[in-house]
Amino acid sequence: MAAAATRRLYWDDALALGFRARVAAHTRWGERDAVVLEATAFYPEAGGQLADRGVLAGRPVVDVGLDDAGVIHHVLEGERPAVGDEVAGEVERARRRLHMALHTGQHLLSRALVEIARADTVSARLGEHGCTIDVDVATLGERALAEAEALVHAVIDDDVAVRAFFPDAEELARLPLRREPKVDADVRVIDIGGFDLSPCGGTHCTRSGQVGLVRVTGSERYKGKQRIFFDAGQRARVVTAGHDDALRALAVSFAVAAGDVPAAVERLRGEVKTASATARALKERLAEALAAGLGGERVVVTLDEAGPGTDVELLRAVAKRVVARDGAVALLAARVPGGVDVVVSRGAGSSFDCGAFVKRVAAACGGRGGGRPQHAEGRLPEGADWSALVLAHGG
Ligand SMILES: [Zn+2]
Repeated sequence: MAAAATRRLYWDDALALGFRARVAAHTRWGERDAVVLEATAFYPEAGGQLADRGVLAGRPVVDVGLDDAGVIHHVLEGERPAVGDEVAGEVERARRRLHMALHTGQHLLSRALVEIARADTVSARLGEHGCTIDVDVATLGERALAEAEALVHAVIDDDVAVRAFFPDAEELARLPLRREPKVDADVRVIDIGGFDLSPCGGTHCTRSGQVGLVRVTGSERYKGKQRIFFDAGQRARVVTAGHDDALRALAVSFAVAAGDVPAAVERLRGEVKTASATARALKERLAEALAAGLGGERVVVTLDEAGPGTDVELLRAVAKRVVARDGAVALLAARVPGGVDVVVSRGAGSSFDCGAFVKRVAAACGGRGGGRPQHAEGRLPEGADWSALVLAHGG
């Protein structure tokens, strides 16, 4: 169907959200029925910007798409209005308003990255939960990102006018565009107070102050380029407030000022490291003491009296000492929360098959485990009687 391109009301005024238009055709968009209007304020998913939502002819608009002929297709929930009907449409304001801030913020940040780091934007995506800009440099330091963000905020603070216009070919050739247009004719240019001029068909703020905030939230290497994560407008404020709340909660928990939280965390990490080293040393001494009291060729023990630190690590440490005696076999168990850990190990002079034994016992009592002939481990169900199991299965 060779439908005429839809008149795009959002190009005249990004905040004219209510409109009336005649239904031009019934079409299909993807797998679904769609409606084409003579004119629409609904922005379709295009140019890295998500589609609008809202209500058309009293039905929720669930998707809006744009085809190569410039025709905009509206996917509605429920019955479609008849061709020829004049219908009322209302674009959801909060979503549109956010997209305006995201898109304008993206232009600002892309320009700032050129100014600060000579990093050209190769693609940008304004997502449902966050935005990305990919730039053609391999690395980009934190400092450059902070400087770019500061430059963006200087332009936001100046509250310069944002103008959208369609220059003729001669004027277009003279404009210092940040990137080449993707279309040959009717190129729409967005001019942010002379700071940035880019061809773009999206919806933008009318003054830079309306962007409010642009926040870089991270960056990473991506396919030889640098991917920058950012947010803008209301969503950037929500994200930033969330981070601030988390930081303040940490500050209260550490009983320090918010700015001192990193130092407090460092201190805590140091303390944990020292405490872990102490615990390991104490476990070694405990293993030494326990192993000293376990004589004989075949050592069958269930540790549950050893108290804190009784775990599989302690069993391994005790087993290691027991099997230092040439022909010894260590059959050790420890009651731990949720079950019984077992470690079975043999000395160099023994031919006992530890792996086969643990497998046999585990299968018999509904546990799991196994290993090599020299050493095996397992987890048996809570209440398993290790001594009885060893006796019954030929340990
Ligand atoms: Zn744009």
